[in-house]
Amino acid sequence: MFRSVLIANRGEIALRVARTARRMGLRVIAVHSDADAKAPFVAFADEAHRIGPAPARESYLVAERILEVAKRAGAECIHPGYGFLSENAEFAESCAAAGIAFVGPPASAIRAMGLKDAAKALVEKAGVPVVPGYHGEMQDAAFLKEKADQIGYPVLIKAIAGGGGKGMRRVDRHVDFEEALASAQREATNAFGDPRVLVEKYVTAPRHVEVQVFGDRHGNVMHFFERDCSMQRRHQKVIEEAPAPGMSREVRAAFGKAAVEAAKAVGYYGAGTIEFIADGSQGLRADGFYFMEMNTRLQVEHPVTEMITGFDLVELQLRVAAGERLPVTQEDLAIHGHAVEARLYAEEPERGFLPSTGKLHALRLPSGEGLRIDSGVTEGGEVTPFYDPMIAKIIAHGPDRQTALDRLGLALESTIVAGPKTNTRFLKALIDHPDFRAAKLDTGLIDRNLAALGILAPEIDPETLAVGALAFAAREKERLEAVATARSGWPSDPWSKSHGFALHPGRETGLRVLVEGETRDVRLDAAAEAAIDIPKKGHRSFTLVETGDTNFILVDGLQTEMRMVDALDVAFDDSGGDAGGNVKSPMHGKLVALFVVEGERVEKGQRVAIVEAMKMEHPVLAPRAGRIESIAFEAGAQMGQGARILSVAEA
Ligand code: ADP
Ligand code: ADP
Ligand code: MG
Repeated sequence: MFRSVLIANRGEIALRVARTARRMGLRVIAVHSDADAKAPFVAFADEAHRIGPAPARESYLVAERILEVAKRAGAECIHPGYGFLSENAEFAESCAAAGIAFVGPPASAIRAMGLKDAAKALVEKAGVPVVPGYHGEMQDAAFLKEKADQIGYPVLIKAIAGGGGKGMRRVDRHVDFEEALASAQREATNAFGDPRVLVEKYVTAPRHVEVQVFGDRHGNVMHFFERDCSMQRRHQKVIEEAPAPGMSREVRAAFGKAAVEAAKAVGYYGAGTIEFIADGSQGLRADGFYFMEMNTRLQVEHPVTEMITGFDLVELQLRVAAGERLPVTQEDLAIHGHAVEARLYAEEPERGFLPSTGKLHALRLPSGEGLRIDSGVTEGGEVTPFYDPMIAKIIAHGPDRQTALDRLGLALESTIVAGPKTNTRFLKALIDHPDFRAAKLDTGLIDRNLAALGILAPEIDPETLAVGALAFAAREKERLEAVATARSGWPSDPWSKSHGFALHPGRETGLRVLVEGETRDVRLDAAAEAAIDIPKKGHRSFTLVETGDTNFILVDGLQTEMRMVDALDVAFDDSGGDAGGNVKSPMHGKLVALFVVEGERVEKGQRVAIVEAMKMEHPVLAPRAGRIESIAFEAGAQMGQGARILSVAEA
């Protein structure tokens, strides 16, 4: 076995590889960019070397520099993780040339599987079913369109150099083909510097089922069963599980056989994944799946396979790279229970899944029976815009699928991230979705259920507002009291419910806050009331993270960011008033109380009505002294924002 390993990667995978290497007695050598100088994988390593500035192109992708460090540090092998240089055949060759073992397949296999068209042609020859379509050399638009017409719509245009779901377009009607082709080619050129595409049948009710393969340098190739990765968004995996629900012993044998044949066709050794697309319209069938591509590396979702087989795939990778035989045979392997992985991302599903970066003010990842957490960041660390914004992989195992899902659900509920937004709530909604629970899986499930999965921008919940605002009020208590005393010598305890919150005698006041970037005025007595209501409404558990001038309020996997604006005594005295004496509803809401009748005399600032919106009450005050005229609504009425409630005529 090697005595040392250099890990040419970062984040959770660098740490995950390092742990196994350490356990096996290897010296762990990390390389890092400036952005990662303080990252956990750097701290964990026995030694760490800077390889450049933050951008991956100037650090993690600079093969020569990494090799230089490897030679200098005396690394006996290099583990590339996934992404970055892991599928770079030249890098694998350079390692070999430098006398350093590349922990991965032979460069020839990487090359053979690198382009999707050639890979398809190659495995097809080995008798593996491929998706019907055109994967030849002709790239003329009219020719490709003719092929698409022959295949029959819907078709999928795919960049042959593709990866990460880029350069792919589904086309449903022949009139849309040319435009989709041009756009796929543009994207492919930008992402891979190669505009070439293939066209294939878009499989109906598609399920992504992939097989983990492993080979050694003694001619053994076997498989470690399958994973179902059908929960996807934009062709990217969101949740993965093993085994695939509904997979029978026979069908599994057919998938396994096809995968092993594909791997053998390229003389494979090391860990690899054969991705198949299955037609799920009639369940998984031995004659209903097709080769899509091979990933010649460790996969992000490998932990689910580890959890059901009990094997450490990184250990096997290192053993194979060192020339050892695989320590098991196909017959030795068995599936134990079920495992599910969720990718916890720093992103905002509610705003188009935009990546969300910044300091992790709080990071509490769950632990518990059957749980495994692979993460590369810690509290106080940062999610930078330079790399994949994954915070952690949460993997749950159980004797059966339902137990594993229940455990994953509980784990997500106790996940606390403050700072960057996350997809926690979306993941929880997905694993609770009835179709997913019932294993009615296909790659369109997420897109069909976007609203049900709660990814629309949420309304700010009054209780969340209350928790955040009261925390500010408590923190600012002394200052508030001083202001109040200076103004009027009253009240002594501004947040007691009986007093309400009044800095100006006879007027309602509160706090001005910025909630998710929007200014909101919160009446603290109403906030106190909302907070008092929380325990009555079942067990909603709020987590408050206070940092500087920002409070993060977490509930049900959703984070709300609240900043205090330096205006402690917002007076609600002019809400809705205007020069003409018209009193308007400050927001869309209900007229819960009307304190005046037509003809009545009022003083300026006198409370004339109460509007309730978002479960908060907003007093409506007379904009001037005068006589009440033309009341437009009765108590109990719903009013639109800006609707005229009544007018005050100058007396
Ligand atoms: P695919 O979706 O292509 O089948 P995976 O699900 O295994 O493959 O994802 C691999 C992707 O992970 C890479 O293409 C890259 O975008 C991303 N990645 C690469 N390195 C890292 C890293 N250190 N941490 C998190 N994500 C990474
Ligand atoms: P990438 O290299 O980007 O991972 P893949 O060829 O693996 O590209 O395809 C990515 C995803 O696109 C798959 O996981 C699957 O959900 C979907 N997909 C690919 N080919 C087809 C097809 N022929 N029919 C339906 N869906 C497909
Ligand atoms: Mg793929």
